Amino acid sequence: MLNQKMYELGSRRSVIRELFEYGKKRIAEVGPDNVYDFSIGNPSVETPEAVKDTAVSLLETVKPTTKLHGYTSAQGDPSARNAIAQDLNQRFGASYTGNNLYLTCGAAASLTICLQAVIDSHSQNVQVLAPFFTEYRVFIESRGAECRVVPPALPSFGINLPALEKCLDANTAAIILNSPNNPSGVIYPEEEIKALAALLKSKSQEFGHPIYIISDEPYREIAYNGKKTPFTASFYPDTLVCYSYSKGLSLPGERIGYVLVPDTMPEWEKMYAAICGAGRSLGFICAPALWQHVITKCAPLTSDLSIYAKNRDLLLNGLTEIGYTCVPPDGAFYLFVKALEEDAVSFCERAKQFDLLLVPSDDFGCPGYVRIAYCVSGDMITRSMPAFRKLFESYK
Ligand code: PLP
Repeated sequence: MLNQKMYELGSRRSVIRELFEYGKKRIAEVGPDNVYDFSIGNPSVETPEAVKDTAVSLLETVKPTTKLHGYTSAQGDPSARNAIAQDLNQRFGASYTGNNLYLTCGAAASLTICLQAVIDSHSQNVQVLAPFFTEYRVFIESRGAECRVVPPALPSFGINLPALEKCLDANTAAIILNSPNNPSGVIYPEEEIKALAALLKSKSQEFGHPIYIISDEPYREIAYNGKKTPFTASFYPDTLVCYSYSKGLSLPGERIGYVLVPDTMPEWEKMYAAICGAGRSLGFICAPALWQHVITKCAPLTSDLSIYAKNRDLLLNGLTEIGYTCVPPDGAFYLFVKALEEDAVSFCERAKQFDLLLVPSDDFGCPGYVRIAYCVSGDMITRSMPAFRKLFESYK
């Protein structure tokens, strides 16, 4: 017998993957300069030289090599965990140690581990704030919980507290917060995080159990115009932080990230044990060892993020000038744009006629928009502008 749900998940690609594959096919037909693939969040900025040098030096100098390639502790090598704790302490004035960290294969693994650790019965629900990273629904529903979608506050795309309050109940295990947000690019301001923390604190008291925030932060360092991403764990003690080096350090294929269980969380040691148990039950133990050792030396680094800032301005200014309505991104590398017809899927189909590959927002829980991933070359953005203009004019 087959698990029908898993069969369905595996036989139907995500819209993003579907477009990405279509793009490859189209490039083979018309050449790479004639396809404008804005579908996927694969960083276009090189990882820093120091990361490459560290990996090479480890490979060349560590003997015996079993020290480099061998299993680490299930929760990660202590020196990697300590280095990350030190980096977090420096960034956020905290006092974490390696004991607060569990290393993972990227943010996706961090999220499934956290969900596994906090969902304890099939009648529970987890709230996601639209627009949201499409995989949240898969991760939540695969644990048997209900994924409840909270609409955004418009026009800011901020946190819609009254709508969230209506969705919370005694069976709410957690809410997932993603800032800077994929796909809107919004960074939730500190006042909104504080108001959210106050609401969750009062609801946790009312229901007699904590409602956790699972804070998904793979884009934390990618912020524009002097903005900084508020660190949710500083405002709400019952926060689990999911991080990865996929975006800020341009290492998505290496699968390295972590869960932080802050020491400010009441009974954090119990939660840490549950995170270890969840990692164990999912088989997510011992994150890739070479990359743990690289992170030990490179945790504070980021790629040259100023390149995304230039791309952001180029795309935002270009599309606004043509007449598109865009949400100005505070961070991440996505532009959220109003589709020129009600049905974003059909808008994206028309965009394909101009070899523009855009992602419709339906699966992000916020129909009527498209996501444009601008982690591409600035040159491609410039070359794509006539196609965007033709698409716009086709609606006149
Ligand atoms: N969370 C968000 C919001 C993302 O955009 C992504 C990837 O694009 C992930 C999690 C998964 O990240 P990772 O590749 O580190 O697993």
